[in-house]
Amino acid sequence: MAAGSIFRFAVLASLLFACSGTPKNEATTPLGPPNIVLVFVDDLGFGDLGCTGGAYRTPNIDRLATEGAFFTDFSVAQPVCSASRAALLTGCYPNRLGIHGALGPSNRHGLDPDETTLAEMLKEQGYATAIYGKWHLGLQEEVLPTRQGFDHFAGIPYSNDMWPQHPESDAYPPLPLFEQEQIVEYDPDQRQFTLGFARRGVEFLRASVAQQQPFFLYLPQPMPHVPLFVSEAFEGHSGKGLYGDVVEEIDAAVGMILQTLEELDVAENTMVIFTSDNGPWLSYGDHAGSTGGLREGKGTVFEGGVREPLLVRWPARIPAGLRVQEATMAIDILPTIATFTSAGLPQRLIDGRDISALWTGASESLDPDFPYYYWYRSNELQAMRSGKWKLHFPHGYRTMQGREGGSGGIPGKYDYSAKTGLELYDLSTDPKEQHDVAADHPEVVAAMDAAAEIMRGRLGDKLQGCVGSEVREPRRFDGDFGR
Ligand code: MG
Repeated sequence: MAAGSIFRFAVLASLLFACSGTPKNEATTPLGPPNIVLVFVDDLGFGDLGCTGGAYRTPNIDRLATEGAFFTDFSVAQPVCSASRAALLTGCYPNRLGIHGALGPSNRHGLDPDETTLAEMLKEQGYATAIYGKWHLGLQEEVLPTRQGFDHFAGIPYSNDMWPQHPESDAYPPLPLFEQEQIVEYDPDQRQFTLGFARRGVEFLRASVAQQQPFFLYLPQPMPHVPLFVSEAFEGHSGKGLYGDVVEEIDAAVGMILQTLEELDVAENTMVIFTSDNGPWLSYGDHAGSTGGLREGKGTVFEGGVREPLLVRWPARIPAGLRVQEATMAIDILPTIATFTSAGLPQRLIDGRDISALWTGASESLDPDFPYYYWYRSNELQAMRSGKWKLHFPHGYRTMQGREGGSGGIPGKYDYSAKTGLELYDLSTDPKEQHDVAADHPEVVAAMDAAAEIMRGRLGDKLQGCVGSEVREPRRFDGDFGR
């Protein structure tokens, strides 16, 4: 929808208000396309928030849960930065797109610009679009956010620890800070990241509303991924260490956004979505978050690595205090937003499903046994979920069990020799994945494995030596850094 037609729509809507004299009511008053703010933090533990029983004060983030929906059984597609972001922004399993792991300065590939991102989908609908924070889907010009649907970009192209001060590697060049497609600074002051990116977001919201344009603000905060930094005002804020200070500053950044939406009188029809890209980086000890008792963390497909609280506040459509226990995944966000914005789905095949009926509380469950969600780690099909069941396929994983975590930003050492067998867990009674019940439910294991076999044919499985027939290529570059 073009800006002009949005304006005409707003005028028409205001006339309807004037004629009917009724308060805002979705049944009688078209509110127009919803605005969207997507806050995607980095390496947050499931148990780090006030609303998940955490130790830190997060009143603004908690507001999203009390005034909106809390999806308790939401997970990311892969427990690592780049892969998780690829899924969020495209609605695809990341291995479908050839995006694995965490891209760094030496990678010569990125998200193929021919894929359709959430930003491109919304831009097509007349939205103003912006990203402030961490991109992590390639640093070559052709794959930067400005070439993938975002009108505005300020931030870093990959993780904030990929810089010369990395505690375990001296191989990283200075960390670039981008403004659109230009590098404007190297090794920027990370103490300014959290509130600085939020302030850019606030400016964008004000400009979009002034131009009467619906907006999509994507705020991928680089923290609480290590190295941890806070601005001066948040030093010692939590009284519980630097990690807590960082979480509380992120909460303040969310508060800035919520306050701005209210000031601009657009909070009613703005969906504010909050979640994280993966669970806590446990080897960092006191600089890592808490899974709240879920097993393992970042880099593994156990719940501690992939389950995150998904919070969505949208007063116009989502009832306050809604709790959704149905399994959902980050790949569902794009098709769900497509429904709410009447946008067309990407032309290329995607994996997510429209779960808009869960978002509004119209339905408690779409189908208890379908669909299946799959967790790949790189291109290994390591686990899957169907309803309450989670099946692990035999695979190796890293763990800090029996080991001391790091401190002060210096990580401890993972044990990479841990292995899981073919194990089945009932997440409705055993979310911590402690009691393997595969032997008691062979029919469940067989049905899930049969579904997995189909998936192996489509997206492959390195554990079984399968090559997928539907896997697409990322955009690849030659030469140094491709720039
Ligand atoms: Mg991460």
